Amino acid sequence: MAVDATQAYDDQNVFAKILRGEIPARTVYEDEWALAFHDIHPQAPTHLLVIPKGAYVSWDDFSAHAGADEIAGFVRAVGLVARRAGLVEPGYRLIANTGIDSHQEVPHLHVHIFAGRALGPLLAR
Ligand code: AMP
Repeated sequence: MAVDATQAYDDQNVFAKILRGEIPARTVYEDEWALAFHDIHPQAPTHLLVIPKGAYVSWDDFSAHAGADEIAGFVRAVGLVARRAGLVEPGYRLIANTGIDSHQEVPHLHVHIFAGRALGPLLAR
């Protein structure tokens, strides 16, 4: 079920449960602002998700309402996770699905990091 990016935050979403430690994740990085873990259904040889610690439904919600420290901390964490995974030189792709047309499924902001092969054109045609 795709998420409406303007909906209220649902604290029962799967990533909220991961943040609270209620369900497991294969964590690769954590700091004050962000948690990064392997996607459960990888769509590339490397497929990581980075989520903010704060309760934000989407990129729209986060960019409009998060504080400057949260935004800086989260953006730096995304870069750090990719760098630590050795992805900068071969390259990687970031995707943050937002709202119905993007097919966002989990209503907690997440940035996908895809890497590990030539990823091809940006969008399927
Ligand atoms: P999106 O379509 O952008 O909302 O992507 C949601 C992503 O979350 C998908 O790639 C799922 O495979 C992934 N996902 C869903 N549940 C889990 C979970 N428990 N642990 C890790 N990744 C998950």
